[in-house]
Amino acid sequence: MEKNEDYRLVIVGYGGMGSYHARLVEQAERIQVAGVLDIAQYRQELAKSHGHTIYDDLQSVLSDDTIDIVLIATPNDVHKELAIAALQAGKHVICEKPVTIHSQDLLDILQVAKEVERVFMVHQNRRWDEDFLIVRQLIQQQTIGDVFHVESRVQGANGIPGDWRQLKAYGGGMLLDWGVHLLDQLLLLTDSKIESVSAELSTILNTEVDDGFTARITFKDGLTALVEVGTTNYIKLPRWYVKGSQGTAIIQDWDLSGEIVRKNLDVAHVEPKPIQAGRGLTKTMAPPSEESTIRSPIERIAEQDVPEEFFHNFIAVVEGTAKPAVDNEQVLRVLRLIEALFEAAEQNQIIQREL
Ligand code: NAD
Repeated sequence: MEKNEDYRLVIVGYGGMGSYHARLVEQAERIQVAGVLDIAQYRQELAKSHGHTIYDDLQSVLSDDTIDIVLIATPNDVHKELAIAALQAGKHVICEKPVTIHSQDLLDILQVAKEVERVFMVHQNRRWDEDFLIVRQLIQQQTIGDVFHVESRVQGANGIPGDWRQLKAYGGGMLLDWGVHLLDQLLLLTDSKIESVSAELSTILNTEVDDGFTARITFKDGLTALVEVGTTNYIKLPRWYVKGSQGTAIIQDWDLSGEIVRKNLDVAHVEPKPIQAGRGLTKTMAPPSEESTIRSPIERIAEQDVPEEFFHNFIAVVEGTAKPAVDNEQVLRVLRLIEALFEAAEQNQIIQREL
């Protein structure tokens, strides 16, 4: 069946993510890639070789009345100027994360979007990651009781890729990169406000931007979180480690390996037996007995619990029939949290701030 392509989209920035979007849009309904613009000639050539129409400059995109949507997938420092120019030209805008380097820049974009009555939505796509959806469901369904601590990590051993991500002026560094995803996910795990934050940044392989970070976040409802990104980890820690009043869950990786161990509520308390541990005995650190616990593998998310696909949602927002899957207030909150973490790291202090 022929694709009904009501919406014409131009991708600005045809690098890793721009070309990925081109493939995603290909699979989405009612939307097509009408063209590509990149300031690098070899990227323009590449897009052409992939069958895309090429625009010579931004002005020709903006003045093309057949274009409804501009998708920004450039380095972070130019998101703001591109977004404002596209909105003012009457286009709806999809922008890659981090939406901007500073929260004030996002506020400036949102002001323009409001004035021109166009949709502006940020591609914070890791809200759709299944590992995250599983953790969120586990918390909502109280599978391991009341969750009081969450650890969320991603760790690689390749340093920061050797491009603009190593440079401060482009909004490089891991807090503004993977930090956006992990913090965005974290804020969706509870309705509570943040009470305080602290952070350490690492600069192991470079001095200009952080090549990793450890952030500690305390929410007003008592939930604590440790969010960590590393780029010099030859052995990784689990992607998720979640502690509840009645159990613990581990998700090792994006392959969803891991397990949930929880109290068997049908069994009366079993006193732990001392075990030999190193050169001593311990009862406190003995594993829970087999009969007092239930072990289960990580279960996949049911089809009906997977959120609406990004481009599908975007079109529905443009048509006024759905709320944005990525709300701009939530995007702003992530940026403000990142700013607080930079501040905490710089001052080497816990920052008490309601966020
Ligand atoms: P990249 O370096 O691979 O590609 C960026 C492209 O933008 C380059 O081809 C560059 O020539 C072009 N460009 C730079 N300035 C431009 C301008 N003014 N006009 C037009 N083109 C311009 O970078 P990338 O990895 O594709 O990252 C792009 C954006 O996507 C960043 O904001 C990044 O944080 C984000 N990103 C998001 C995800 C995700 O999962 N959501 C993953 C990777 C990257």
